[in-house]
Amino acid sequence: MTDIEELLLSRIRDVADYPEPGVMFKDITPLLADPAAFTALTDTLAGIAERTGATKVVGLEARGFILGAPVAVRAGLGFIPVRKAGKLPGATLSQAYDLEYGSAEIEVHAEDLSAEDRVLVVDDVLATGGTAEASIQLIRRAGAAVAGLAVLMELGFLGGRDRLAPALDGAPLEAM
Ligand code: AMP
Repeated sequence: MTDIEELLLSRIRDVADYPEPGVMFKDITPLLADPAAFTALTDTLAGIAERTGATKVVGLEARGFILGAPVAVRAGLGFIPVRKAGKLPGATLSQAYDLEYGSAEIEVHAEDLSAEDRVLVVDDVLATGGTAEASIQLIRRAGAAVAGLAVLMELGFLGGRDRLAPALDGAPLEAM
């Protein structure tokens, strides 16, 4: 593990049984409050954006907004929010996906992505991969290519990486 990865992971707080019993919540607020760590994360993710030839950064609501927006600024790219259904005012593309109990729906403004774009998706935690998979489906339906998925932390035991392999179709999945 590099010094930067060690710094970043040391600033993530484990909160047991939140938001419900049995879940170990990965709280990134200590990292956000530490300017050295937040800057190091932003620089690392911006490096991934540059390496993968991304033309846009998509952030997944809500913590993907906090991490993705400074990456877009640092890399000189546009930032596109993928939001929970009903929050975007313009014409949207929507994608439903299954949760453990029930389902969810995410949306993007259709005009924000085009066939010229290569999109880096940014989020804080990859758990089951359901949210990331739905976001990749949205990006492809908009006609854009997926440059990659970059997360701060991957919960490997939930198998998100395997689930995402078909959707990513060779695009890299980077975790710190
Ligand atoms: P999933 O769709 O299962 O991969 O869940 C991913 C989304 O849920 C991400 O946007 C995370 O912010 C959030 N999430 C899931 N599990 C956790 C966890 N243990 N700690 C913090 N956030 C989580």
